[in-house]
This record gives sequence, structure tokens and C-alpha cells, in this order.
Amino acid sequence: MTGRGIMMPFYEYFTGKGGQILLEQKLIDVYVDGNGAVVGAKVQGPDGKIQNYKANKGVVLAGGSWKANPELRRLTDPRFTENMISTGYPFVAPDGSAILAGVRAGGILVGDRCEDTPHLRRKFGTAHYGFPKGSKYGAPGLGISGPRWAEVIFTNKSGDRFVKELDKANLGGYTFYDAALAQPDQFLWTVFDDATAKKYKWDTKYPTCEEGHAFTAGTLAELAKLTNQPNLEKTVARYNGFVDTKKDEDFDKPAESLTKKIEQGPFHAVRLVLCVHNLTGGLAINNNSQVLGQDMKPIKGLYAAGETAGGLYVGNGMPRAIMPGRWAGEHAATSK
Ligand SMILES: Cc1cc2nc3c(=O)[nH]c(=O)nc-3n(C[C@H](O)[C@H](O)[C@H](O)COP(=O)(O)OP(=O)(O)OC[C@H]3O[C@@H](n4cnc5c(N)ncnc54)[C@H](O)[C@@H]3O)c2cc1C
Repeated sequence: MTGRGIMMPFYEYFTGKGGQILLEQKLIDVYVDGNGAVVGAKVQGPDGKIQNYKANKGVVLAGGSWKANPELRRLTDPRFTENMISTGYPFVAPDGSAILAGVRAGGILVGDRCEDTPHLRRKFGTAHYGFPKGSKYGAPGLGISGPRWAEVIFTNKSGDRFVKELDKANLGGYTFYDAALAQPDQFLWTVFDDATAKKYKWDTKYPTCEEGHAFTAGTLAELAKLTNQPNLEKTVARYNGFVDTKKDEDFDKPAESLTKKIEQGPFHAVRLVLCVHNLTGGLAINNNSQVLGQDMKPIKGLYAAGETAGGLYVGNGMPRAIMPGRWAGEHAATSK
């Protein structure tokens, strides 16, 4: 089921009960009274006007994580630099403002680590993601899953392979992403030949791929020149040798994945952009989704759910939003 399939019944239930949803409103801060209780929210509309809302029962912070904020997300992992993109862009770009509002109200942070992140975009071509054209994130994703990793190699800006091409595999104490993030400027290519491109219908041309992020050339020597990868030819020749012998002497790619030589021109090189996907940290909450202060006691009137909350592990993704959201609502509704 898609997110929409999950959210629409909630929407219908909420609005059916008289609930009102205001779109394009940005939470700027929460109001805290003299006793430390959260009593309202300061919100900015699209016209820049500020509205103040008094909370009858409480405020639930649900503004996602800080994965789209290059400064803050470096607290999670210093390797998550500016040149990475956050998944969900351009539809959601959580900047951590909800978490920070909770911190200003006295909440503490907990449990920050990254899980299942960074990511490669998994559909081929910019177009699939609805990115604005000319976006600086214009590099296409790859339709890479399972067996497709057998048909490509990943190279760095010198044109050297740097990893065994296996998705999420335990590569002996490190992951594909650890290796990718360690490359100079995190500048990465996927290289494959035309037989693979045709097989998976990977179209490297604009508008499927942004110009400047995907290249095609009749020979490997030309492709190396176009993409400024001086070692590419040598790398591909060595890799093809490993396919012949079924033994990857450099990175130990398993024999069952050494099935396809990169040999039939034209040849393609597509830039990879790594993504930050799922951060597990956020505001510390209790079983009622109440935000906890430095004394580990709940801050009256303040709740957090979804990726704004951390520490309470109830699974990732939607369950993490739905369950704590429900606990917050139940507690707030019955609180005095
Ligand atoms: C590509 C992709 C695929 C996924 N696939 C799955 C899946 O298959 N299954 C699954 O369970 N989960 C999946 N997830 C994860 C799931 O979508 C998220 O975990 C979930 O949507 C998090 O919900 P959230 O409400 O906490 O945050 P978000 O969905 O990030 O929503 C937060 C919202 O708050 C807004 N916001 C931020 N700050 C403020 C502010 N100050 N004021 C007002 N609004 C603000 C943001 O713009 C955003 O709209 C996927 C996520 C992505 C990106």
C-alpha cells in the first residue's frame, strides 16, 4: 500500500470529526509558560504572516527528521555532507525545525544513528522522481536491485573500482556506503555496456537523465575521456578478466555475480548521488509520546511523533509516525 492509501483514511476520519488541516504552515516555535508547559505554537503562513495558536490539550511535533539540513545531519554522521540529497526531495525536505522547537522547549535528543542510509536512488533517471529540471541533484538514480548489480561496476573519479558491487551486503565489516562515502569528493560512477542498458531499458539521455550526469561513448577510451576517469579502460579490462576466471581478486565479488563482461559498446557512465534516507534519532519521548526534558520527566503539553521523535523503537517509516502519533493523541485528549 502506498503512503496515500494509508493516509487518506486518517484524513477522512479526522476531517469527518470536524478536524481542520491547514496547509503550507510552518511551525516557527512553541510557546512555553512560566511552569515549563507548552501552551501554544507560533506558525508562519505562505504569505509570511505569523499566526499564534493556543493549545487546548497540547502540541504534537511531527515535522520529520533533519535529514535535509546539511549542517544538522552532520551531527548524525559527519560524512553526510552538502552534496548528498535527502530522499523524499523535492516533496518533503525536513530541515529539523520541529526537533529544534522541541529542544528550545527543553526536550532532549536521543538515539541518533543512521539506518538503511545512505541510499542509492533506485529508479533509473531523474524523471522518475519528479525533480525540477536542471536540479543540482540531477544525477539519475539507478534501477539497481538484486541481479542488476552483477552487470555494472562502480568507479570513483579516477576510474578505479572501489567496492564489491553488492547491495547492502556485509562486505567484511564495512558496507557499500562506507566505501562509497570514503571516495574523493564522494564522486561516483556506474559503468555498464549497451547490452545491459538495453536489457533494463536504462536510457541515459536527457530528459531521463540530466545533462552532465550521464555519458555515452562508442569506446571505453572515449568514455574515460568524457568523464575524466583516467584509469577506466584498465579497470574494465581487469574486471572482465575476473568475469572470465570467476574470481574477483580485488574485491571478492562472488562468482555468481561475475556473469557479465562490460564489452559491448556503446558504453555508459552514470553519476551516482548518495542519499540520506532514514535517521533514527530525534526528541526523546515516553510511551505516551510526551517529549522528555533533561530530568527525563515529560514536558507538559509537548509531544513528538514520526521522525521528529527518537529512541522509542517501534519500527521505521510509517509505523514510527502512526503509532506514536496515536499515543500522543490519546494521551493529550485525556489529559487535564
Ligand atoms: C523514498 C521513500 C520511500 C519510503 N518508503 C517507505 C515504505 O515503503 N514504508 C514505510 O513504512 N515507510 C517508507 N518511507 C518512510 C516514511 O515515508 C517516513 O518514515 C514517514 O513519512 C515519516 O513521517 P513523518 O511524518 O515523521 O515525517 P515526514 O514524512 O518527513 O513529514 C514531515 C512533514 O513535516 C513538514 N515540516 C517540517 N518542518 C516543519 C515545520 N517547522 N512546520 C511545519 N511543517 C514542517 C515537512 O515538510 C514534511 O511535510 C519512505 C520514505 C521515503 C523518502
